[in-house]
Amino acid sequence: MNDIFPKRGDHDPANLDLKDFDRYERAHIPPGPPPKQDPRERVLNFNEVFLGYDEEQAIVEAARCIHCPSPEPCILGCPLHNDIPTALLLIEQRRFSEAANVFRATSNMPEVCGRICPQEILCEGSCTVAGYDRAVNIGKLEAFCADWQRRNEGFPDYRIAPPSGKRVAIVGSGPAGMSAAEELMRDGHECVVYEEWPKPGGLNVYGIPGFKLYKQIIAEKAAWLERYGVRFVCNTRVGKDIAMQTLLDEYDAVFLGIGAPIGNKARLPGEELKGIYQATEFLVRANLPLEDLPARLRARPEIGKHMAVIGGGDTSMDCVRSSIRLLRQAGMCDAVVTDYYRRTENEMPGRYEERMHAKQEGVQFEFLVAPVAFHGDAEGHVREIEMQRMELGAPDESGRRSPKPVEGSNFCVPADVVVLALGYSPDPELGNSLPDLKKGWKGLFAVETEFTGATNIPGLYAAGDDVRGADLVVTAVAAARHAARAMDGYLRTER
Ligand code: SF4
Repeated sequence: MNDIFPKRGDHDPANLDLKDFDRYERAHIPPGPPPKQDPRERVLNFNEVFLGYDEEQAIVEAARCIHCPSPEPCILGCPLHNDIPTALLLIEQRRFSEAANVFRATSNMPEVCGRICPQEILCEGSCTVAGYDRAVNIGKLEAFCADWQRRNEGFPDYRIAPPSGKRVAIVGSGPAGMSAAEELMRDGHECVVYEEWPKPGGLNVYGIPGFKLYKQIIAEKAAWLERYGVRFVCNTRVGKDIAMQTLLDEYDAVFLGIGAPIGNKARLPGEELKGIYQATEFLVRANLPLEDLPARLRARPEIGKHMAVIGGGDTSMDCVRSSIRLLRQAGMCDAVVTDYYRRTENEMPGRYEERMHAKQEGVQFEFLVAPVAFHGDAEGHVREIEMQRMELGAPDESGRRSPKPVEGSNFCVPADVVVLALGYSPDPELGNSLPDLKKGWKGLFAVETEFTGATNIPGLYAAGDDVRGADLVVTAVAAARHAARAMDGYLRTER
């Protein structure tokens, strides 16, 4: 169904016959980092930090690609195997919409992935240019051309396969669910997407702050899918408002893309005190228009003179950066936001870019400390965190050196608000409602392989964080595309 999109080789950079001299010239174009909001301004708003390339900047940055001989390492480094060199060549030729279509041929969310992929370990981490200079800014160029197309022409029109007469239920409208819906819709199947939040988008809307991802993109994408007949049923939690078995009975196939939405608990004394938040609750209440939230969450989170975030991943950076914005917007210029992490900065799992932005915005960091208890006041509100110093021991199974407590090193730090950003686990409720469904590690859905997403129940497929555990948007999109192909095959098989 991708026949409106260029095929691999249609604009093959190999046909360019780039001479060494051309490569030499390209290699000497200085990198053009994308413009950003000044840290002093951006802490006063929740708008995107990156302002995006303009046309001329994008053309120059795209010309830094030296068009390596095939197989291009950037393509291999991208989980979606986007044809990056072809897209960059089209950008260079001012053919922005065609460049966007190259990305859309293999990705359902180039606007999102271009913004939030950890490019430094994926496409840009494999870029040959990174061997002698800064890697080509592939992610920002991807976002640029996809944005250019969306703003100037809208999402491209698709050719849709003739109606198959089959109905598919998709549970969750995050990166996996929305990608599966788009693929299956294009294959001619009727798609109904169930979402427990009030708006479609899942993690893209309710997990990622607006200063990293402009939410209107997701609203426009959902509206565009609706134009093609995809139906979103929001405020509906499958497993509670509608039984999983009902979906299996009423639809020809079901796709599970519910992610890993449950924030891990600290399991420490005092965790139930007022003023202690799980990261997701804090982030949605801090970032979103209140009318986009369920009634129980329609109030901004508390802020205080000492705000503490526990954790070292990207979510913890989202929390500290949301906190500092809330404080500065409220005029609390002397209030402090501190991220506490039990290892050193070297072992932090989140992106360097996020940490650098947080530091520029005034966030403090304390390393080699871990909470042991939360202490409150007479009203039951958190006021202090009891911490223990840590030291690094031998590497654990993740390859990072594991933290070991230093005996007798406890101390207290002031904390008026605490946000726990300790990672995510799958939601057991939906899986438990289907006792026959096979589960794997930590209750994740067990699938045949990630290339099919088939569970042990015929017609039931799963992909994304509910299969792999909390991971990247790009890996969820890739897995959902594989599962959609397998589902199309299943739906077209006579039984
Ligand atoms: Fe790079 Fe991610 Fe885009 Fe692939 S999807 S090209 S890894 S930014």
